[in-house]
Amino acid sequence: MAADPLALTAELLRCPSVTPAEGGALTVLERVLKAAGFTVHRLTFAEAGSAPIENLYARIGTASPNIAFAGHTDVVPPGDEATWRHPPFAAGIEDGTLYGRGAVDMKGAIACAVAASLDHLAAAGGKPKGSISFLITGDEEGVAVNGTVKLMQWAKERGETFDHCLLGEPSNAAELGDTIKVGRRGSLNGTLVVTGKQGHVAYPERADNPVRGLVTLMSALMAEPLDHGSANFGPSNLEFTSIDIGNTTVNLIPGEARARFNIRFNDCHSQISLRMLIETRARAAAGGHVRWHIDWQPSNADSFVTSPGAFLDLVVGAITHVTGRTPTLSTTGGTSDARFIKNYCPVLEFGLVGQTMHQVDERTPIADLATLTAVYRRILDCYLA
Ligand SMILES: [Zn+2]
Repeated sequence: MAADPLALTAELLRCPSVTPAEGGALTVLERVLKAAGFTVHRLTFAEAGSAPIENLYARIGTASPNIAFAGHTDVVPPGDEATWRHPPFAAGIEDGTLYGRGAVDMKGAIACAVAASLDHLAAAGGKPKGSISFLITGDEEGVAVNGTVKLMQWAKERGETFDHCLLGEPSNAAELGDTIKVGRRGSLNGTLVVTGKQGHVAYPERADNPVRGLVTLMSALMAEPLDHGSANFGPSNLEFTSIDIGNTTVNLIPGEARARFNIRFNDCHSQISLRMLIETRARAAAGGHVRWHIDWQPSNADSFVTSPGAFLDLVVGAITHVTGRTPTLSTTGGTSDARFIKNYCPVLEFGLVGQTMHQVDERTPIADLATLTAVYRRILDCYLA
């Protein structure tokens, strides 16, 4: 049974699956994969304090190697729908371009992976030499606690093993084939809190203004680079995102001042070494005069990089064969679910072109869907030869 990646992408785009809603998207995939002979599991994961989330695991074949396509059907909200050229959940087509929330991030890539799998299976007489799996979550754009983390744990508990994984996030910068993500930076959030003493602004000697200390510590933390990058990564970066004092009174020195920051870090650091570095620098800048502490938020985002090897060579070869381009191996950008998958098997990210992801008028050239399907098909043909 052949699948048309355009028709399947359009069907997925018509499902309003804004996190945490399933929106019908997993039901579409279940129907198509079951018809092709996959065993499909629908799994709802829940945890106190977060919305229950639907996920899907599908596999065809019982032998190894088992190659997994991973992805998410949830999407970020469309914002003001009136500002879209075509409504965000209508899958409008104009001038060879398909519009819709999730077109590139990442329903398009999931549809291409399904179409490539069905084409590969049809050519192989309906059964793969090895196994093809799909790990699809509805919790990537949200807090990501009831998605891939629990899906991988569930799979492990029932004895599923994965040899390699392709995650279809929109890895390409400008043209299909220009970039593979081979790793991701880590992410850590913290709040710098400086405590002073509240008082009348006209009698500063009776107060202790925490704004002075906050500015001193912020300046120190922004002054020095965290590192100079590594073989696979650019330099780590600390960015203050908010200064929170909340004082609306003009003649009052506040008692406390806070500043929130985020660090995107490379493989020079672990979360622990990074915290120690920041606190050492803050302590030096405070010089014993500023009362401060940092509230660190728990983070599930460590940095990682997938080692070069036969799988990377195979994927690069398939991309070059189909597109004529030699992809850059990149670790830039935000985090992705690859950070959870990498604990189970090597994972690479290759999908559509990311230019319009999370934007109004998210869209993909229809030609890219055919090209990405051809790349995935080539990967399957070589991997399961
Ligand atoms: Zn995504």
